[in-house]
Amino acid sequence: MSTLLTSTDRLLGPAPEYPLPHLEAPELIRLVEEAGLTGRGGGGFPTARKLASVAGHLPVVVGNAMEGEPLSAKDALLLARSPGLVVDGLSLVGAALGAKRLVLALGPRIPAEPVQLAARGTRVEVRLLPGGFVAGQESALVNLLDGRPGVPSDPRVPVFHRGVDGRPTLVLNAETLAQLALIARNGAAWFRAVGTPSDPGTFLATISATGPTTLRHPGVLEIARGLPLRSALRTAGADLDRVTGVLVGGYHGAWVPPDADVLLTVDDLARFRASPGAGVLLVLDRDTCPLAHAATIARYLAGQSARQCGPCVNGMPLLADALARLASPGTATTVTEVERLRGLVDGRGACAHPDGTARFVASTMQVFAAHVQQHLEGACDADPR
Ligand code: SF4
Repeated sequence: MSTLLTSTDRLLGPAPEYPLPHLEAPELIRLVEEAGLTGRGGGGFPTARKLASVAGHLPVVVGNAMEGEPLSAKDALLLARSPGLVVDGLSLVGAALGAKRLVLALGPRIPAEPVQLAARGTRVEVRLLPGGFVAGQESALVNLLDGRPGVPSDPRVPVFHRGVDGRPTLVLNAETLAQLALIARNGAAWFRAVGTPSDPGTFLATISATGPTTLRHPGVLEIARGLPLRSALRTAGADLDRVTGVLVGGYHGAWVPPDADVLLTVDDLARFRASPGAGVLLVLDRDTCPLAHAATIARYLAGQSARQCGPCVNGMPLLADALARLASPGTATTVTEVERLRGLVDGRGACAHPDGTARFVASTMQVFAAHVQQHLEGACDADPR
């Protein structure tokens, strides 16, 4: 069922020849429900439900192209190659919902000029914003757009109740908007022609590696949901004999063992507590020490918090320290300390940043358990990158 698409197919190809239809809100919601589109920004929430949550409330609609995940490059490429599709998606949703404002938020890594050109003559306001790992979270983005620091807000007040300008606000990832513009033109059956019945369509995957010789074609590929992970890696030119793990979903994601027979779907990746997320696949090379690399990521994540909740102020820096000690090399006490600190930060913040970090560390300890043992025995000879 699943088909591999090249990077010149749906999202990154020539601009569509058909005009964008006008759809009323019920019609658009029904179409998107039939298509089965889910958010392509990380959360994977059903897009039809997000649309329905603000229908009838004259919302502000925000296109999210903050791309705060360091390993992701797909929104930057999408907006460089197909900015018109993203603007179309925003215009489509705005017209259907009677939106008060349409805002396209660009992080610092997104090329602004093609987007500004594509938005000319439309209702879409293009905003260039400062970035950071948590700046793309919905409430942090709302704060930035309203002129406040880009940190997450009280999760008990969801942005679809009170967001930009104090109005109900719908935030959709740039790729999700581009998919919507294609679905409106081509229909739900077209969208479902690739992917799996429960996880249809394509997504943009950013594939990179920790070693220079592991991957011949790092970059962004448009691939179908349901493709086997190993097929995606082969398409990117991976030398599978050099791969010791694949981080799926980015810095808040989880590791998948290289020999895993797993499909790139929400359901199948859940076996490893991973999800397609924003489409990030990081290939770990056999010469890279997984613990040292994980410690670097944990240190980065600890530095990206808004420092307004206990787990971020205290727990995450200590967790990163403990992981670094284990990587260089550690003792059994360090293993216990990593587990203790991981448990302390998990589920304790006002947003999902500590939870995502805890999940990443848990996955590291589980998938690389044999490597942890090597460290305890002082036997790791991999590069501490
Ligand atoms: S958990 Fe961390 S990142 Fe999230 S709101 Fe609190 S301090 Fe900020």
